[in-house]
Amino acid sequence: VVTERRYDPLTGEWRIFAPAGLDRTSVRPSDQCPLCPTRPGGPVTEVPAPAYQIAVLDDRFPSMTAHPPAPALAGTQLYGVAPALGAAELVLYTDRHDQTFADLDVARIARLVDVWADRYAVLGSRDEIEYVFVFENKGTVLGVTLEHPHGQVFGFPDLPPAVHDELTAAQRHLEQHGTCVVCDVVAHERSDGVRVVAANEHFVAYVPFAARFPYEVHVTSTRHATSLLDLSDPERLSLAALLKQVTQGFDALFDRSLPYVMSMHQAPVRGEHWLAVSHLHLEFTPPNRTADTLKHLAGPELGARAFVNDTQPEQTAAQLRDAVHKAVG
Ligand SMILES: [Zn+2]
Ligand SMILES: [Zn+2]
Ligand SMILES: [Zn+2]
Repeated sequence: VVTERRYDPLTGEWRIFAPAGLDRTSVRPSDQCPLCPTRPGGPVTEVPAPAYQIAVLDDRFPSMTAHPPAPALAGTQLYGVAPALGAAELVLYTDRHDQTFADLDVARIARLVDVWADRYAVLGSRDEIEYVFVFENKGTVLGVTLEHPHGQVFGFPDLPPAVHDELTAAQRHLEQHGTCVVCDVVAHERSDGVRVVAANEHFVAYVPFAARFPYEVHVTSTRHATSLLDLSDPERLSLAALLKQVTQGFDALFDRSLPYVMSMHQAPVRGEHWLAVSHLHLEFTPPNRTADTLKHLAGPELGARAFVNDTQPEQTAAQLRDAVHKAVG
């Protein structure tokens, strides 16, 4: 399998070609988990220590790397080809195999926020990286084969398409209204309250007005913080506390561990001009539309990029708010 980036002239987007990563090979029994610590007398895992708090590992099958192989074929004027330059890391949340994000205590999540901020700084200092993307795929329904609680960090050599589109829309809003669109949205949601799922001093969790997924939740700083590095210690703690509540609420919603994709959006690591339109937020997109059915991406979504949502964000927000109350008490 090749590892390279190819430019699609039909859409103007770069795509990554890479072998299946550690997370995308076959499902393994829990006693062969490569992310568990190396127990005395047990098999050597990816983490050569008998216990750990949080661990950061290079993906052994990276989508992007600091020293990528030469592409398998040469690019042309029509078809751009580039080495898969960048970074791919795993962040292990705990050495406890059977936990999920929602089980972590707030102090551990606050440490995780520090680790994410640290990866943003470290990967962002590399010349070849323009965007640091923190994310988590949770649940076998999303193709996750390693149940061990973990997320990932990609270092992109350019702005990935969704980020580019979001920043372009924010730039347009800034030119038209003179304000950060995320600041405007957060202020509106906080005063309106109908789509707010949970909130605390420095962060708010809400279902977007035009959510793509029934239980989509964005966790956003109330202040115009551009990245995790821009957060004070009290703000980091506030974020950790709200992430705990939101993930507990997700699990209480259908009384089962809810799968989701978590995507963190923050400022590109280069380009001062992005700071005015980069406002830190985490997007949770659970695929469920009910306890037992999933929202599938089909014709409208894949063919027209037009999401059809058969739920009402004001109602799903109320459901999630109740679930958070039930979970947190
Ligand atoms: Zn494990
Ligand atoms: Zn803002
Ligand atoms: Zn976003």
